[in-house]
Amino acid sequence: MSARILDGNALSADVRAQLAVDVAAIKARGVTPCLAVILVGDNPASAVYVRNKVAGCEKAGMRSLKFDYPADAAPKAVLDKIAELNADPSVHGILVQLPLPPQFDEKTILEAIAVGKDVDGFHAENVGRLSQGQRAFFPCTPHGVMKLLAAGDVEVCGADAVVIGRSNIVGKPMAMLLTQAGATVTVCHSQTRDLAAHTRRADILIVAIGRPLFITGEMVKPGAAVIDVGMNRIPAGQPDAGKLCGDVDFASAREVAGAITPVPGGVGPMTITMLLANTLESAQRVANTQGA
Ligand code: NAP
Repeated sequence: MSARILDGNALSADVRAQLAVDVAAIKARGVTPCLAVILVGDNPASAVYVRNKVAGCEKAGMRSLKFDYPADAAPKAVLDKIAELNADPSVHGILVQLPLPPQFDEKTILEAIAVGKDVDGFHAENVGRLSQGQRAFFPCTPHGVMKLLAAGDVEVCGADAVVIGRSNIVGKPMAMLLTQAGATVTVCHSQTRDLAAHTRRADILIVAIGRPLFITGEMVKPGAAVIDVGMNRIPAGQPDAGKLCGDVDFASAREVAGAITPVPGGVGPMTITMLLANTLESAQRVANTQGA
């Protein structure tokens, strides 16, 4: 058996086409959705992510603002910029690209962003709202995974879901979204005993570890939906060294799974798409409040 491919590129293109229509509609009401992105330092991966986010805005017809700070920037300079953007009614989303240099306290920076403009969904209040099932901006990667499951007709309600990874940006919000959708969720991490015993009974297996090709076909339940969040480079000395790969050994897992995301072309494209969707939603809230 070879698994169905859950194609993030195709789904992302569909969602972005609808977004462009909705952006045009809100612009006709006099509101142009605007995302402000703050980048501190010269981490090359962060620079690529920010470039893609800005390009995504432009393609969707949204406005974007980009603010660059050197790696030795004072946290106060960034906090002052966040305060200015919070007060600017033409800005609907604010994002500080992570990770930040060591002189920054990540929590202080994230919580300085106005809750209503926190389109990454990392502010403690948005996390709390999500955990209580209240309206909130959902963190973009788990939100994108839920869209992929829905588009792939993967039944979440009643399923046994196993999430590997408990980070604040992927694992924990992923578990909350799956729980709210009716799955029975187990969260695994580096201290989990007998990981394979958990993965082998998962109807839905979400892998967000950061270890190349860690989950193999023999750890997958036949017919399961396998979502690979990982984004890694194949280590030097191995075949295809330097190429992008996930946390799942796609070749062996696809022979066992019922549905699977590839890397690249699975979860990755959906993350920025959901960021754009959150920014549009923020602008729509403003337009509705203004009666625009
Ligand atoms: P992270 O903060 O480093 O968290 C990794 C998690 O994996 C931790 O909870 C850790 O457990 C767990 N873990 C590590 N080794 C393990 C093992 N041997 N067995 C079981 N669990 C283990 O990473 P992250 O930010 O969540 O990202 C995870 C991966 O997703 C990375 O490859 C990242 O690049 C990728 N990512 C992709 C996207 C996208 O758009 N596609 C977005 C975000 C992240 P402990 O908590 O016990 O340490």
